[in-house]
Amino acid sequence: MRVRIDQAACAGHGQCAATAPDVYQLDDDGFVLPVTSVADSELAREHAVDGANACPENAITIIEESA
Ligand code: SF4
Repeated sequence: MRVRIDQAACAGHGQCAATAPDVYQLDDDGFVLPVTSVADSELAREHAVDGANACPENAITIIEESA
């Protein structure tokens, strides 16, 4: 799984980090930081998807990769 974030689309709502703080962190201005990796666990994967779905700007794309 990879997480692609459209930094230009991010409006700093912070919903991703509020929903899944283990995956998404915000910078000092409240904009999401790049996600370089997601822990290889079912829970972390669910959180990554939940956080993406919580974004009102659809700025987060989950890319599933086959192993
Ligand atoms: S929820 Fe979306 S708009 Fe808000 S900080 Fe996260 S990526 Fe950015």
